[in-house]
Amino acid sequence: MTTSKNQTRHPLELVTQTQAELSDRPIQRPTGLVEEVYARVRAEIMSLAIPPDTRVTIESLARRLGVSQTPVREALSMLEAKGLVTKQQFIGYCTAPILNRAQFEEIYEIRLLLEPYAARRAAEKMSDEQIAELQRLLARMAPDGDATRSSYDRFAEQDSDLHERIAIAGGNRLIAESLARMHIHLHIFRLCFKSRIASDAHDEHAGLVAAIAARDGAGAEEAMRAHLRNSHARFSQFAQP
Ligand SMILES: [Zn+2]
Repeated sequence: MTTSKNQTRHPLELVTQTQAELSDRPIQRPTGLVEEVYARVRAEIMSLAIPPDTRVTIESLARRLGVSQTPVREALSMLEAKGLVTKQQFIGYCTAPILNRAQFEEIYEIRLLLEPYAARRAAEKMSDEQIAELQRLLARMAPDGDATRSSYDRFAEQDSDLHERIAIAGGNRLIAESLARMHIHLHIFRLCFKSRIASDAHDEHAGLVAAIAARDGAGAEEAMRAHLRNSHARFSQFAQP
């Protein structure tokens, strides 16, 4: 068994090992490589740099990112779990199609049924510490003029986090799980790439979090309803027929 040949590899590169080497070697890889590939590809899919419903091959991604195929394969599995790519027999990976009009309307219909109620319950039940965490998350989401693809993807992730915290704090596990399973934010934010969306949503989030912090259940419910209606209006024109 050899170990020396691994020492000169590119820091971002995985070791290509033979079967014989694999048998007795502890798992070794630079930490964070898969995550880095995942974050890169995810940001490209979210910002439509890689268009919807488009074939992505492991080989071409590996070549473009300058890494071996292994971390790309792992990153694509993670993206598949999030619903951003699908794996099709004989074809390989494709980016998920964009939401159609009916799916878009269904998502907002279920959100408007569940999330305002969850916000009311969160205002009544959230602990002071959970509220403080929510306020810290809100502060991190403040627009900073950065209009890059990765900042857009980060906002989508944080928005998802904020809504999930409220749903969980509402105390109904089924509501929280139903919302989480739909990967709502990934699909909605993928309808278009516009940095304005983050700043528009920020004021609405601030009002919502303020109502929760004031333990104002009715106010939180109404703030969530208004936020969802505005969000619907922001994205509606981008949903396909
Ligand atoms: Zn939101």
